[in-house]
Amino acid sequence: MTVTADVQQGAGSGADVPFPGWADEVRALAKKRGAVLLAHNYQLPAIQDVADFVGDSLALSRIAADVEADTIVFCGVHFMAETAKILSPEKTVLIPDARAGCSLADSITVEQLREWKAEHPDAVVVSYVNTTAAVKAETDICCTSSNAVEVVASIPEDREVLFLPDQFLGAHVRRTLDRENMHVWAGECHVHAGINGAELTRQAETHPDADLFVHPECGCATSALYLAGSGAVAADKVKILSTGGMIDAARATKAKQVLVATEVGMLHQLRRAAPEIDFQAVNDRASCGYMKMITPEALLRSVRHGTDEVHVDPELAARGRAAVERMIAIGQPGGGE
Ligand code: SF4
Repeated sequence: MTVTADVQQGAGSGADVPFPGWADEVRALAKKRGAVLLAHNYQLPAIQDVADFVGDSLALSRIAADVEADTIVFCGVHFMAETAKILSPEKTVLIPDARAGCSLADSITVEQLREWKAEHPDAVVVSYVNTTAAVKAETDICCTSSNAVEVVASIPEDREVLFLPDQFLGAHVRRTLDRENMHVWAGECHVHAGINGAELTRQAETHPDADLFVHPECGCATSALYLAGSGAVAADKVKILSTGGMIDAARATKAKQVLVATEVGMLHQLRRAAPEIDFQAVNDRASCGYMKMITPEALLRSVRHGTDEVHVDPELAARGRAAVERMIAIGQPGGGE
C-alpha cells in the first residue's frame, strides 16, 4: 500500500482496549472481510493504533479510493465516511457508529444553502470538506484548510463567493486575499471555537520558546496571526496548518516544545511523528465527543457484523464528486480537518 505524506501507517496495539487481544481480533476480522481500516487523527489512541492508515479526512478518502480492498472501515465522523463513499462509489464504506456527526457540518443544511444561493444567484459556492454529501452536491468547488486560499483566489475577482460553513476559516481566507465580495457563513465547530485567543495568548506568554501549531478552524486563529503580526511571538513560530500539515511541520521544526491548537486526539500522531518534541494542547479539554463515539467496542462490532454501512444517493454523489474534483484540479489539496 502507498503511504502519502499526510497519512501515517497505524502501529502496534493501543491502550484502553476492552480485552487483551482486541487489536488482533479486529485485524483478523477486517482481513476476513477484505477491509482496510482508516482512522482520523482525532480518533482515540487505541483506534489510531489498530488502523492501517491514520490521517486527515481528505487524504484518507483518497487512500480509500486507491487501495485494492473493496470494503473501507472509516473511523471518523459521518461526513468523512460520506466523502470516502463519494470518491469510491463502488466500494462498501462502513462507519462503526453512524451517529457520529459533526457540529460544523450541521451548521448549514442544504435548504439553507439553496436559500443563500437564491439571494446571490451569480455567486460561486466554495464549501469546506466538512459538509454533508447533500451540501457538496450544491457546491461549485470544495476546499480544505490547506488550499482554501488558493481555491478562492482561482475565482475571477468580479464573481461573488459564498464560503461555507466555517467562519474562522472564511475569515482567514478573506483576510489573506483582502477580498470584499466574499460572503462567509457563520458556522463553527464547537470544539475548535472553544480554543480561544485568551487561552492561546496566555500559553504563548508562558511558553515563549514554543512553536504554535494552529488549525484555521480555531477561534484562536485570528489571535495567533495577531500575536505574530504584533511581534509578541516571532512570526516564524506561528503556523496555521491542517492536521496533515501539522505532521509535516512536526518533523521539520527545530523547536523543543510545540503548543497545539486543535482537537486533542492530534497529539497522539504528533508524538509518534516527533517523539523528542514536547507537544502540549492549548486547551486540553478540546475533545470531540462525536469522534470519540467510535469506541473500540463499536469498531469490533463493525468489522464483525459489517455495520454501519454508508449510502449516498448516486446522483448526489456524482455532483459532490465533481466539486471535489474541481478542487483537486486547482492544486494540491493537502489535508482537510
Ligand atoms: S472536531 Fe469539530 S469539525 Fe471536527 S468532527 Fe468534531 S465537531 Fe466536527
